[in-house]
Amino acid sequence: MRKAIIEMLKNSGGKFVSGENIAEKLGITRAAVWKHIRQLRKNGCEIESREHYGYILKDAENVLLPEEILSGLDTKIIASDKTKIFYYPSVDSTNKTAKNLSAKCPDGSIFVAEEQTGGKGRLDRKFFSPGKKGIWFSILLRPKFLPKDAPKMTLTAAVSVAKAMERFNLPAQIKWPNDIMFDGRKLVGILTELGGETERINYLIIGMGINFNISRKEFPKDIRDIAASISELCGDKKISRVEFFRAVLEEFDKLYIDISANGFENVLKLWRKYNITLGKKIRVIAADTGEIFEGTATDINSDGALLVDTPEGMKTVYAGDVSVRPASTARGE
Ligand code: ADP
Repeated sequence: MRKAIIEMLKNSGGKFVSGENIAEKLGITRAAVWKHIRQLRKNGCEIESREHYGYILKDAENVLLPEEILSGLDTKIIASDKTKIFYYPSVDSTNKTAKNLSAKCPDGSIFVAEEQTGGKGRLDRKFFSPGKKGIWFSILLRPKFLPKDAPKMTLTAAVSVAKAMERFNLPAQIKWPNDIMFDGRKLVGILTELGGETERINYLIIGMGINFNISRKEFPKDIRDIAASISELCGDKKISRVEFFRAVLEEFDKLYIDISANGFENVLKLWRKYNITLGKKIRVIAADTGEIFEGTATDINSDGALLVDTPEGMKTVYAGDVSVRPASTARGE
């Protein structure tokens, strides 16, 4: 219903739409229209209301509606037509939504929300995703490669954001495996989930949360010192959220097609180009064993795993938390 309301406001040609008009068209009461409008505002939509005129969407171009995303989007698989874009003013989590709908969705479907009320990172950690302040979305894929290759799609997602940033002349830095960083703080969180069997992927869901226009003080206190937003890098230059989103989708699409044809070699090469982990002294908490150790990150192998030179020899880390150790202090990043 809210989606229909937004679409009506969006297609009004810059004119007010009366509550009566909306109510009639959608077969609901004017009071119900008002309730939906209030909720949409809560989600970050700037809807102005004026007595005797009705409602108008103030920043129509800054809503991630399917039509808006598709306008000028150059992709072959990812979000390549309207049936592959699922848009929500607000959801629990886009990964969860993608999982629930996975049975019916083709390769390259995307699930976009203006707001996530229960955004999650790894290990069920909360991911802050306020209305219209970020790009919160998931991509559903049905790749032909084996489940063991899935972690490399996480690197692919990070590289696609880095390449999109480069298009806007923003400095892109990837911390292993998939965090996009600025000033030691995280700009983008990525969470990959897989459905399938040992030998076959049924679906792969890659959730990405790109902090877009969140000021430092808008972040909750507990993550203020570890989170950053694209707007911080832009200075005076204004970048549109939907334009940036299109760039990410296009870069991801190109890499995905290349992977299907040639494997992951190019992604690994690009990952090395943008990475800020290799060559650094790091501290690792391995996800599987919980082992904590320090060493120098030397390279990633063909699985995308991190090779760490430690006093006990070379260790291969497939998953874990890595913090870069500044040379002169004990504080990690
Ligand atoms: P990773 O991307 O390293 O896997 P997690 O999956 O652990 O990260 O992400 C969740 C953690 O990220 C939270 O515990 C919190 O510390 C932090 N976090 C939550 N929301 C945001 C956000 N919008 N931007 C950056 N970091 C966030």
